[in-house]
Amino acid sequence: MTIQEKINQLRSELNEHNYKYYILDTPEISDYEFDMKLKELQELEAKHPEFFDENSPTQRVGGGITKNFETITHQQRMYSLDNAYSFEELNDWENRLQKLLGDVPLEFMCELKYDGASISISYENGKLVRAVTRGDGFQGDDVTTNIKTIKTVPLVLKGDFPEKFDIRGEIILPIAGFNEMNEKLIALGEQPYSNPRNTASGSLKLQNSSEVARRPLECLLYSIVGANQAFESQEQSLNAAKSFGFRVPSQSKIAKNLQEVFDFINYWDTHRHDLPYETDGVVIKVNRLDFQEELGYTAKSPRWAIAYKFKAEQAESVLESISYQVGRTGAITPVANLSPVQLAGTIVKRASLHNADQIEKLDLRIGDAVFVEKGGEIIPKIVGINIEKRAENSQPLKYITHCPECNAPLERKAGEALHYCTNEANCPPQIVGKIEHFIGRKAMDIEGLGGETVQQLYDNRLIYSYVDLYELKKEQLLPLERMAEKSVDNLLTGVEKSKSIPYEKVLFALGIRHVGENIAKKLAVAYPNIDLLMNASFEDLVNQDEIGEKIAQSIIDFFSDLQNIQIIERLKNYGLQFEAVTKESTQVSDIFADMIFVVSGKFTQFSRDEIKQKIEDYGGKNGSSITGKTSVVLAGADMGPSKLEKATKLGIPIWSEEEFIEKLSE
Ligand code: AMP
Ligand code: ZN
Repeated sequence: MTIQEKINQLRSELNEHNYKYYILDTPEISDYEFDMKLKELQELEAKHPEFFDENSPTQRVGGGITKNFETITHQQRMYSLDNAYSFEELNDWENRLQKLLGDVPLEFMCELKYDGASISISYENGKLVRAVTRGDGFQGDDVTTNIKTIKTVPLVLKGDFPEKFDIRGEIILPIAGFNEMNEKLIALGEQPYSNPRNTASGSLKLQNSSEVARRPLECLLYSIVGANQAFESQEQSLNAAKSFGFRVPSQSKIAKNLQEVFDFINYWDTHRHDLPYETDGVVIKVNRLDFQEELGYTAKSPRWAIAYKFKAEQAESVLESISYQVGRTGAITPVANLSPVQLAGTIVKRASLHNADQIEKLDLRIGDAVFVEKGGEIIPKIVGINIEKRAENSQPLKYITHCPECNAPLERKAGEALHYCTNEANCPPQIVGKIEHFIGRKAMDIEGLGGETVQQLYDNRLIYSYVDLYELKKEQLLPLERMAEKSVDNLLTGVEKSKSIPYEKVLFALGIRHVGENIAKKLAVAYPNIDLLMNASFEDLVNQDEIGEKIAQSIIDFFSDLQNIQIIERLKNYGLQFEAVTKESTQVSDIFADMIFVVSGKFTQFSRDEIKQKIEDYGGKNGSSITGKTSVVLAGADMGPSKLEKATKLGIPIWSEEEFIEKLSE
């Protein structure tokens, strides 16, 4: 067997095992055997890069980095769905259909409405070529590299597939996987994700595909487009998709009439909590594709489909007490403690209350019978009170006036919803919370240090502020519980490494109230070193893009506090980055001044990044998608036909790589 044959054999074996494991759920070999084969293939591919294949099973582990997601125009628009909230509305819908089609017997395909992020995946000659998010329905982001890491997405197809088609579906995060991700975060002392849907759609836009590979995402597919002439009905196309190796949810069912649709809905309204993932309704589609075509689309959705939304489930419970949590910024969050009640498949004991206004608006009182509802969030909320059950002697609730942790007075600034503990410097949860924030992945990213250890260091009086991390000594740490020599070394190396974390992240890490990751970036550009920022006036700050009065005031307050100034002085002395690294201008000419380029396709002389750099070196700007403002489209090989069409339609000049090089030498 030649090397190439061996590689091909391993690839098809691995694809087949992947299919058996993830799609059919009938694995034939152990995980260990699978990993060994994968490893063998990885080694062969590494030794023989000439046989590289972008759809090899080895590509699943990720590794590709996407800095900017390219905008792609959908060949066929991705529509929304009209919603129905009652059976009556479904009756009306059927009447409209009958009117348009002229009283014909209608069959429906009932599918669950999967709650995730929609995706459109293109296949050509049985190979995955591109995956694009829904975006605004007309254009989405190219997330191919990330999608390829999802095991339920086939990279190569089986069976008798059409030469070219798109398939649409939903990227979802099963509840168990979501909970597991959150448990890990909580153990690290980090903020858990709020719900599976947002986490799934956020995952698609991660820059590092190996991070995506680590998340237990799945892909459920429900519609083939662009090859419909091949099928007569939605049912047929779903069966075909299954035979090509796609994961098509098994719950889909044909209804011969509207009554059977209602039966399907009623069944899943009660059984949906047994599913491994979230669903918020049922999508009902006219089964015959010729009818679908005849019915067509309104401005935003197909006439031949409708989404029936389940009502959010409610339960009644009793408000036993309210606890107040103190966050790292001193923000107080009230949490309702309820008598345990069964809701949407779980037992609920707590509900979020957001803030004092909400309590007042509901006129919530201890002992009240309350209605709780579970939406997309993990923590349910109180939506109302059963006023008939209220005790006669019940008293309006008084919001706390002092911090439950340190007893300092609370303060609520005009225009803000939350109360804050005023004892910023000495309130224990604020101190610990600030340090946890400081070491977080998006801030100083200190490896070898997690939330529990921070609490331990604080309890042992080794740190009072994040600046103290830079004074920790090995001898101090070794005697602590759970601190082996190796963990101590890791911690100290992590602290040392953080000294080279860039300025913008340091700004974020400081934990200035209202200064998030994004604002920190903006500030780092507007004030390229900390002294400039410290001396900025209120007027100067609010003049910056995206800095409002609330943020400006918070920055002023932060730097008016002597303790903060001292901490920053100390951090400076330890060598943290308090200055932006300015990229030296490499501009050589301004022949492209005021011109916006869109670069697309592959080039021979330059990489894409190099060509973008060249454009800037010659005074031009890079745009991400073709719009009326685009001056030139720079087209390499394999530029998408839709882009070409758009550029031509807008009359934008299209340059080849050669033409571009010629202009440079002019
Ligand atoms: P909406 O965003 O509420 O207008 O609903 C439309 C979205 O529902 C589509 O873009 C899909 O992402 C999603 N969806 C989930 N399950 C299905 C399904 N079985 N058929 C069609 N769309 C679905
Ligand atoms: Zn406090």
